[in-house]
Amino acid sequence: MKACVFKAAGAPLEVVEVPDPIAGPGEIVVRVKNCGVCGSDLHAAKYGFKMPPGTIMGHEFSAVVDELGPGVTGLERGDPVVVMSYLACGACDSCKSGIGAQCRTMRLVGFGDVPGAYAEKMKTTAQSVFKMPPSMSHRLGATVEPLVVGLHGVHRAALRAGESVLIMGAGPIGLVTLQWAKFSGARAIAVSEMAPGRREVALAMGADVAVDPRLKNPASELAKLTGRTVGADVVFECIGAAGTLGEAVAYARRGGRVVVIGVCMEEDHWSPLNAINKELDVRFSLGLERGEIETAIAMLAAGRVDTAPMITNIVEISELPKAFAGLAHPGSETKVMLEI
Ligand SMILES: [Zn+2]
Ligand SMILES: [Zn+2]
Repeated sequence: MKACVFKAAGAPLEVVEVPDPIAGPGEIVVRVKNCGVCGSDLHAAKYGFKMPPGTIMGHEFSAVVDELGPGVTGLERGDPVVVMSYLACGACDSCKSGIGAQCRTMRLVGFGDVPGAYAEKMKTTAQSVFKMPPSMSHRLGATVEPLVVGLHGVHRAALRAGESVLIMGAGPIGLVTLQWAKFSGARAIAVSEMAPGRREVALAMGADVAVDPRLKNPASELAKLTGRTVGADVVFECIGAAGTLGEAVAYARRGGRVVVIGVCMEEDHWSPLNAINKELDVRFSLGLERGEIETAIAMLAAGRVDTAPMITNIVEISELPKAFAGLAHPGSETKVMLEI
């Protein structure tokens, strides 16, 4: 099969021929239909982490069941599925309570441990797939994983109807967080984003105001909407760069919450004093819980949230290395998606 593989930190991805995966006991092989490029993939390819050359990345995907290994029940060849971005044992306490991401033997898909979905096929376990409703397109199916990341962040914020929200960053994670903030009844939502194309997508997806933070203070723009002079009830940090946590703290109101969803790979310097003076709750968010995955699929299928406007680029596998490299300097792209 064809696969788009990582070669070395900072080097372009390459499309190569690799052997097809074969399903062992409890495993299934799926034919990949769509796979989104994630900011984490960009980070991983830039810094290398511990990924060996030949690693197949890609963890945000939809697929069709192609081969069932011995002992797999409840699935059939041809079933359209959303595949989760980690493999969990299914038997430990965390797994039994639905929090597979906290499983002691959890392995991430697409970062060197388990081959990912920048390929025609991938191998996973039966308990890592969720059947897609017949009405859902594979393109939308491939947005479920980031959608769940946003839902978990909004859960971590304990967001209540009527609260004001400031979202830093209108990349895919900022945009899905925006969807769930609206879903949860946020009163006013400001998005802070430097790229003009992304600000437009944020407005199209329901932001009340989208601000270039170099030109205007987004918390002040939010205050104009709420009629209050102070900052946001909840600030979502969806960028993941050094310095943004300190900005998030500055944008929050006294007694407000900051939820950090963006993954910063560097050391950061920020002064806690501002957070202390405001008595902020600063919370970090990661997990992908089964119940949240099911909720995200159901609400996406029902049209209660929509991710279609954030899919800006569809590429074939031969075009993926170039599109991937282009995301190092994003313009109007938000979600670049492989389609097979
Ligand atoms: Zn991702
Ligand atoms: Zn487990």
